[in-house]
Amino acid sequence: MSETFDVDLFVIGGGSGGVRAARIAASHGARVMLAEEYRVGGTCVIRGCVPKKLMVYAGRFADEFEDAAGFGWRLERPRFDWAALKTARDAEVARLEGIYGRNLGAAGVTLVAERAVIEDPHTVRLVGSGTRVRARVILIAVGASPVREPLIPGAELAIDSNGVFELETQPERILVVGGGYIAVEFAGVFAALGSKTTLLHRGPSLLRGFDPEIAAALGEAYGQRMDLRLGCTVERLERDGGAIRATLSGGASLTVDGVLVATGRRPNVAGLGLEAVGITLDASGAIPVEPDSRTCVPSIYAVGDVTGRAALTPVAIREGHAFADTVFGGKPWCVDHRLIATAVFSTPEIGVIGHNEDVARGCYDAIDVYKASFRPMKATLSGRDERVIMKVIVERASDRVVGVHVMGPDAGEIIQAVGIAVTMGATKADFDRTIAVHPTLGEELVTLRTPFVVKHPAGVG
Ligand code: NDP
Repeated sequence: MSETFDVDLFVIGGGSGGVRAARIAASHGARVMLAEEYRVGGTCVIRGCVPKKLMVYAGRFADEFEDAAGFGWRLERPRFDWAALKTARDAEVARLEGIYGRNLGAAGVTLVAERAVIEDPHTVRLVGSGTRVRARVILIAVGASPVREPLIPGAELAIDSNGVFELETQPERILVVGGGYIAVEFAGVFAALGSKTTLLHRGPSLLRGFDPEIAAALGEAYGQRMDLRLGCTVERLERDGGAIRATLSGGASLTVDGVLVATGRRPNVAGLGLEAVGITLDASGAIPVEPDSRTCVPSIYAVGDVTGRAALTPVAIREGHAFADTVFGGKPWCVDHRLIATAVFSTPEIGVIGHNEDVARGCYDAIDVYKASFRPMKATLSGRDERVIMKVIVERASDRVVGVHVMGPDAGEIIQAVGIAVTMGATKADFDRTIAVHPTLGEELVTLRTPFVVKHPAGVG
């Protein structure tokens, strides 16, 4: 069969999911071509997780400088240099992009720097050159892009998350619109770097879908760190000299130097040729797929954000890997989307796996909720007045831990490790028999004995 095709696999999109799928398929002996119209690495490497995390690191130094005083350090007032960070960050992104490209080459994948569109179930056309490539299997891994909503007058004055990485200078005053991952993370970064930051969200609390107590606690912390406005919308943006005036619901107005709109992302399906092959989108604009990532067209698969399953890099990578093993490696397996550990790189940081308390109450006859809310040991000398929150949610009948929620320093690191136990089906008794590492924040997760306790600082209580 394969001799009638130019390649066994044509991957559209060189982001996390597409690159992993291409490399694994090639390692199984498939002839693979991958088209990327922008930069290899996709959202995560080029304008998402990686450069964002570098900015989060930059922002966190501000707290460290402040906290250092309580530990005897005497520092000159540190000064932040936006251009220096941008140069270093962009260089790192370029380095990673190079590695991604070289790894594809080393795996034997042919990389084409062009936009590709689908013409029929086995044909892809490269838009720039007009070349047609016949492929036994096509994988759509084109990701998603920021949406520009609400469509208000003056919306063009705002930037989206891609635009943050283009900013040559730091806005002295910035308005961030949205209450999801991206708004919360960037508002935290700008505030930490010294921009006068307003975070404005239409809902009553940040991070809808997260545990309500964690979301409320982040709102409290952010209320101290920036101007947080909940239940509020932007009605209009206008130029005001070199600045931007934002008119808010209720008639208030704000003058800022930049507006970042972070109100969600939508799959990059426009002009991809899906109509030509009869793929229709779901209500969210994503490509519907079976658990094995197959679309309604047997020769076309899709992975990552374009499928709307869980818009997270590690999920796209797993989906790409499972697809390649299944279709080209003779080792079929599917990604389990039920338990996904995730972190929000706000400051304070949030780490989550499993159900939040509200969802767990709906899923099980009875649950027990173990909580700790405490000032970390470091705060005893730094004087920082921010609490760490930990919640462990247990299904009473089975004693199984069905949710863990952490807000505080290194929550993402903590949840990664705890995620192994929860994924393995650990019970509360398993947590309890785990000997604590003392003094750490994480030890609180294995020393929670009674539901709803309020704890003292680590090492004190
Ligand atoms: P989210 O879907 O997480 O959040 C969108 C936010 O915008 C919500 O608060 C939503 O409010 C609000 N919103 C939506 N439409 C409007 C509107 N018309 N007017 C005003 N507000 C609006 O999207 P993000 O863009 O923050 O992130 C996209 C995805 O990227 C995330 O869901 C996540 O999967 C991924 N991501 C993951 C990261 C990580 O792992 N650390 C980091 C960044 C992104 P409401 O709640 O009321 O709907």
